[in-house]
Amino acid sequence: MIIDTHCHLDFEQFNSDRDEVIRRARAAGVFYMINIGSSLEGSAKSVELASEHDNIFATVGIHPHHAEEIDAGSFSETETLAKKERVVAIGEIGLDYFKSPSSPASQKELFVRFITLSRELGLPLIIHNRNAHRDTCDILNRECQLPVRGVVHCFSGDRKELDEVLSLGLFVSFTCNLTFKNAKGLREVAKFVPKERLLLETDAPFLAPQAYRGKRNEPAYVTQLRDTFAELLNLPKGEIEDITTANARNLFGINI
Ligand SMILES: [Zn+2]
Ligand SMILES: [Zn+2]
Repeated sequence: MIIDTHCHLDFEQFNSDRDEVIRRARAAGVFYMINIGSSLEGSAKSVELASEHDNIFATVGIHPHHAEEIDAGSFSETETLAKKERVVAIGEIGLDYFKSPSSPASQKELFVRFITLSRELGLPLIIHNRNAHRDTCDILNRECQLPVRGVVHCFSGDRKELDEVLSLGLFVSFTCNLTFKNAKGLREVAKFVPKERLLLETDAPFLAPQAYRGKRNEPAYVTQLRDTFAELLNLPKGEIEDITTANARNLFGINI
């Protein structure tokens, strides 16, 4: 059994065949998926998907790209959503300094607001960080009690950044970009994640694995990432599944 801990099945890329995608995931052994809220509307859809499917859990958050679309009123809507059933985390939230339409100041402000909310609700964090490692770690260090209960999703940093993230107590999640032919450097870094901190995700519809590169990604393809880790860590595929499923249960407190 595998858990895809980060996908966006609410996105329009799945409008024509969402149920089929969910069925394919189960058939591939991906028994559970965590659907990630990345906007106000997406968080609402995420909660709705989780209420309709017993194999989907939801999270509520606003991607840093949308930081300037949120005002006090819409933030309070996310608070209401985050209290719904089957919401297992706050995110994705964080900082993205790569061609973002939102200013760093607005991103930081929203990040801190969501960290406060996660503390109030006792939920873990799903952190998005692109080209913003320093500020992300500084904010977490300042705003959270260590160890930080959360995960850095789609990890793509170097060894030094990995060590810093681990020292904050965070879990580390990899997407299918780890399977890319040219991801040798990232695979070398991935070897150093302690087994008890490792999570798997697709970030579907983005970042399809090497075998489907350039196409739409979907939760069933997380199996390719499992295979890459099995090879990388020289462990049976079943053990990678057991380790990462136990970690997802542990971090998100899901009873499955
Ligand atoms: Zn992200
Ligand atoms: Zn995402």
